Order: sequence, then structure tokens, then C-alpha cells
Amino acid sequence: MWTNWAGNQSAPQVMAARTVEELRQIVINATGPVRCAGAGHSFTPVVAGENLVIDPSGIEGPAVISVDGDRVRVKATEKLNALSLALAEHGKAFRNLGDINVQSLAGAMGTATHGTGADLPCISGEMTGARLMTATGDIVDLAPDDIPGARVSLGMLGILLEIEMMVVPAYDLRRQVKVVPLDEILTEMEALAQAHRHFEFFWLPYSGKAIRVIHDISDQPRGKPPMDLDNIGVRAIGVARSAGRLSPGLRRWLMSLILALQGNEDYVGESWRVLSKPRDVKFVEMEYHLPPDAAPDVIREVASLTERRHPEVYFPIEVRRTAGDDGWLSPFQGGGRVSVAVHVAAGEPYEAYFRDVEAIFRAVGGRPHWGKMHSLKRADLEALYPDLPAFDALRARLDPGGRFMSPAMREVFGS
Ligand SMILES: Cc1cc2nc3c(=O)[nH]c(=O)nc-3n(C[C@H](O)[C@H](O)[C@H](O)COP(=O)(O)OP(=O)(O)OC[C@H]3O[C@@H](n4cnc5c(N)ncnc54)[C@H](O)[C@@H]3O)c2cc1C
Repeated sequence: MWTNWAGNQSAPQVMAARTVEELRQIVINATGPVRCAGAGHSFTPVVAGENLVIDPSGIEGPAVISVDGDRVRVKATEKLNALSLALAEHGKAFRNLGDINVQSLAGAMGTATHGTGADLPCISGEMTGARLMTATGDIVDLAPDDIPGARVSLGMLGILLEIEMMVVPAYDLRRQVKVVPLDEILTEMEALAQAHRHFEFFWLPYSGKAIRVIHDISDQPRGKPPMDLDNIGVRAIGVARSAGRLSPGLRRWLMSLILALQGNEDYVGESWRVLSKPRDVKFVEMEYHLPPDAAPDVIREVASLTERRHPEVYFPIEVRRTAGDDGWLSPFQGGGRVSVAVHVAAGEPYEAYFRDVEAIFRAVGGRPHWGKMHSLKRADLEALYPDLPAFDALRARLDPGGRFMSPAMREVFGS
């Protein structure tokens, strides 16, 4: 049995491949649909379901295969943290990273995983070439014209073995964290996004405050990172939520206490170590990528809805910014977006909350994160993704029999 990180998706059977030949045998001998797993950090049924899961993470080989200036060829199934270390040995780094770095590169690209930065694309936007195994077990190097289709492919084109991508010279970041009023950050968010390489914030329900996080390139001496209190902080606001059942006033008071203890951060460190942190407290998440102009009003509406109708929700709402790219299934196709993410603790009901918030996101033309909960189906995607027919044609060419289409994937992408 295979399960994802959050524990909300599973599949009855998983087979591990340790060599490319073992992978080929699994693919060509499968009697039904197969889905390739990365690190299982998606919340949606993009790996799990009524299908065989293949785990290629044990396939051996160097993490970095070649380096040509800022263009590298790397092992697609390698984890982002291992790749970051290996790239650092060559004096290189990912241009950007998200909150965590334990995903596989292929899995992260497969769903358009992003960090934050108005001028920084999602990780899929960095792809310049790809080698994959098709349903017939053949190994194919994609032509440059196919790369926009392969940027975000959710495993529907085949199993990625090697990826060629752009990276940057290794760099350090200065991280500055500060608690600010929500109203203030909503007014300034566009200016902050333009002024800093990375800008994001977390709004905390029942506090009126947001935690503002800024990262900029620095050549100052590296400092010692403060103790990472994020996981303790989430548990503490969970306790405040429980106290709020007795009195909302008590919850607000506890929230102000927790935020007073949060303290400001200001230190310099290696980019990949500063950008991503461990996430120990499990949750289920929905995130939509919105047109930037619509974002401040949407965030106000979601914050108000959360406190009025869903007081049980206590996880912070995360707001980030990503540049546009040309991926046919990229949520950032055609222009930059503001991403707004809502979370519910694993094991707690999330359906009603996500349904209410999704309606607000969809009303402004939001596109969902492919790895995070959403309710969109084929007809919805046709309205949101002008290049969907081009992706369909590429998928039909590479996987005419639909070997990589599980019932769950057909429900969303089947034409
Ligand atoms: C705690 C947590 C924090 C997160 N933070 C962020 C964040 O900051 N930003 C963000 O954008 N997302 C974030 N995510 C979402 C996560 O980055 C994505 O869901 C990502 O796809 C997970 O990568 P994975 O390796 O676990 O892939 P999986 O979830 O295992 O797979 C994702 C997709 O990739 C495909 N795939 C995997 N390997 C291959 C392969 N070798 N060839 C072809 N297809 C393949 C799968 O079939 C599937 O369709 C977070 C998730 C969690 C649980």
C-alpha cells in the first residue's frame, strides 16, 4: 500500500525500481494504469488511486550529470535537498525554492511547485530539456518544441529520468521576518513584492496580524539561524483555537501573546538552507494562483469568511508571488500570479471550508495548484488553460494507450 505525506491519498500497490531496466519491466508488464510517485507530497490523487504506483526513487546515478554554465542536467527523481547540496558543490543553486525541499525534482516540476518572488518563475519554468520513459519502455529526449508541454505534466507524458534546467551561481540570502498588521501588508503587498527578491506573508486568524517574510541577496557574513519555532507556533495557535471555544476574546489574547513571542528574525545564510524549512505538523491544503490585481480583496474576503464561518480553522493563510511562464499546464502561463493557500490540520474536516474559499478564488479566475486540493474538472480547465489542446496532442503522441492515466486523472484531464 502507498500513502501520501498528508495521509489523505492511498493506492493498493506500489513497486520500487532500482534500475532503469527494472523500471522498464514494471511499465511494460503492467496490466492496468500506472502512476509514478515522487516524494508523495501532493494532496490530490495525482499518484494514488485505482492504479499501480511506481516508486523510482531508488534508481542509482549521479544527482548532477553535467554542468554547462548555468544550464545543468540532473537526475529527475532526486530530492530537491540532495540536489541543492550537489549543485552547491558545483557553485550553483536553484533560482528559487518553496517552503520545503524534500520533494523530488520531477514531482515538484510535475505540479508547478513554486516559492515566492515577483520575478522568479515556478521550478517548472526552469526546464530546458527532458528525458523520459514512455509507456512502451522507450527512452525519449523531448524536442525543444515539446518543453512547454513537459514543464508541468503530472506524470501524464511518461516517467522523467533526466531533466535539463537553468540554475544560477550559488548565492546567500538575508532573511528578515517581522509581525505587521494585516491591513498594512495588504496595502503594501505589491510594492513589497516589487522591492524584494522574495516577499511573502502568513495571516493568522484571530490576530489581525501577519508575519512578513522577506529575502534578499546578500554578501554580508553568514549568521546563526534562530531556533525554528514554526512547528511549535502552529501547535500553540491550535491550543489558542481550542481556548476560543470557551471565549473568542481569550483566543485573541492568546494569539497576541504567541505573536509577541514570535520575535523578529534577521540573518544571512546559504539560499537553499534559508528558503526551505521542515514541516512537522501535518495538514491538508488548497492553494489557488490569482491575478495579482484581485488578490488584496480576495485575501480580505477569505480572512473575514474564515473568522465568521469557519472559526475552527487555525492554520495561517500563506500569500506568495510567482512570475509567469509558457508551460501549457502551468498555472502561471501567461503572467505572474499571487498564490493564496489555506490549510486545515490533518484529520480535521476541511471540505466545507475549502468549498467556501474555492468559490471566492474561482470568481476571480484563479487556477489551482495541481498538487493541492481543488474540485476542478475537464470543462473548468478548458476555460482556464488555452494551451490544453496542445497538451492533449502531446500526451496522445507519447502515451496513445493512456497507460499513465488513472481513473482519478481521467476525471480531471480526460478529453
Ligand atoms: C509540507 C508541504 C509543503 C509544501 N510546500 C510547497 C510550496 O512551498 N510550494 C509549492 O508549490 N508546493 C508545495 N507543496 C506541494 C508539493 O511541492 C507538490 O505537491 C509536489 O508535486 C510534490 O512533489 P513530490 O516529489 O512529492 O511529488 P508527488 O506528489 O509524489 O507527485 C507529483 C506529480 O509528479 C509526478 N511525478 C513524480 N515523479 C515523476 C517522475 N519521475 N516522472 C514523471 N512524473 C513524476 C506524479 O505522477 C504526480 O503527478 C508542499 C507540500 C507539502 C506536503
